[in-house]
Formats: sequence, structure tokens, C-alpha cells
Amino acid sequence: MQWKGRRASSNVEDRRGMGGKGLIGGGIGGLVLFLVIAFLGGDPGQILNSLPADNTATYEETDQDRELSQFVSVVLADTEDVWSDVFRKEGLVYKEPTLVLYSGSVQSACGTAGSSVGPFYCPGDQKLYIDLSFYEELNRKFKAPGDFAMAYVIAHEVGHHVQTLLGTTEKIMPLRQRMSEKEFNKYLVRFELQADYYAGVWAHHAQGMGVLEEGDLEEALTAASAVGDDTIQKRAQGYVVPESFTHGTSEQRKSWFYKGFQAGDIKSGDTFNTRSP
Ligand SMILES: [Zn+2]
Repeated sequence: MQWKGRRASSNVEDRRGMGGKGLIGGGIGGLVLFLVIAFLGGDPGQILNSLPADNTATYEETDQDRELSQFVSVVLADTEDVWSDVFRKEGLVYKEPTLVLYSGSVQSACGTAGSSVGPFYCPGDQKLYIDLSFYEELNRKFKAPGDFAMAYVIAHEVGHHVQTLLGTTEKIMPLRQRMSEKEFNKYLVRFELQADYYAGVWAHHAQGMGVLEEGDLEEALTAASAVGDDTIQKRAQGYVVPESFTHGTSEQRKSWFYKGFQAGDIKSGDTFNTRSP
């Protein structure tokens, strides 16, 4: 992606090297009203207990991290431009989210999380949380290298912010109290696939801005596929348990991102009213 020298967002909060210590009241013992929406699968309830044992490790920014932090700031700025425009056309106002960079662990309105949970969005404070070391994880563990793979991750989390602004999060999350985990997971999958769709919508407009480079689309599709529940489960345990899927299969994640990339609008992304997403 062409990003050097372009506008960087001012909505980036750098908490690297600060550990999970409290900027926000509440904390582990506090009242957590919102569920964490994590990029990767797993039980959101466990996320709050995933603090690493050593929470005091100091952080030193590497050259790669410096470049990455600039990169994600430009991607965030692009999402601001694109979604402001899309919302305006729908007669709505886009409220920009904050991107929190952290190292090790971080405190959010959704509780305290360690970087092992991967990037996440907290609807409670409308912030995206990313430990930049996830870039290496994408590259090595998920075999999804490239800057646009990381751009897809940011755009997916921003997709959750869009869902929050549109009221979708508020409609879906309370269902958790009313149904079995297995039933709720079906809604979660549709919810996550919609975030992938919105990431695709952003990529559609990024292409329109002329900032995509050859291979970028493939990088995003590879990443979307790499974080599919079936692929992750196969690698981790050798078999898949479809009832436990929370984010969708590799094929679904890839195809909804691509749908958004082709359509470039909100209306074709109704994953909830599609018979089989
Ligand atoms: Zn997600």
C-alpha cells in the first residue's frame, strides 16, 4: 500500500511500555459492561483473564515498530476519510474511533487484556486495541505477510466500530444472555463476517483513492483466510468443531471481505439476513 508521506490519524493513543495499569477506572474487579470483540476466536470471557505474568517488562521501540505505528496511523486516517464519506451519503455522522497501541497488556472499558488475545475492539470506549507484535504473528504464525494484511486487521476492527455506530452491536450482544452458547455463536459468526465485509468496503474505497499496490488485495484475502475458525482449529487441535466457530470459516471470511471490496457500500453487507452466510 502507498502510505508514506500521507495523512496520519491524530486518534492514536500510544500506551506502549505502560503495561496494563489504569488509565481507565474499573479495572479487573470493576464492572465490565461490554464484551471484548476480539479479532481471533476463543471465549471472550477468558480474554479478561489473559494477563501475562510479567506485566512490568519495559518496552523499547524497534525500527520496524516505528514504521508500523506510522503505517497503522495512516490506515486509520484512511478509514476515517472513507467511513465519514460513506456515512454522509447515508445521512449519518461518523464518529472517529481511537486506536490504542500497547505492549504486553492493556486496560480497556471491556476489562484488561494481554496481547495474546490479538487485536480487539471495545464497544464500551469505542477504541481499537493493537499490540504491533501482531504483525509478526500474522507473518510467521498465520503465514499472512505484507502491509495490507495488517491494514485488513485494522479495517476489520474499524468494521466493529461501524457496527457499534449503526446499532448492530447493541442488538446482537444481549442475545448472549438469552440463548445457548452454540446458538449465540451463529450470530457471532454473522457479526464477524459483517466486520470483514466492512473491511472490504474500506479496501474498495482505498483502491478508488489509488493507494493499493499490486498484491495488496491478495495479502488481505490471504489474511482473512488465515484467521478462519476452521483453519485455526485444524492447526491447533487437528480437527474442527463448527458449533464453536465465532468468526466464520476461511472461505466465509475471504468471501465477505471480497463482497465488500466489490460493492463498496453498507447495504450489501447484511450478513444477518442471508440464509447461509
Ligand atoms: Zn472481529
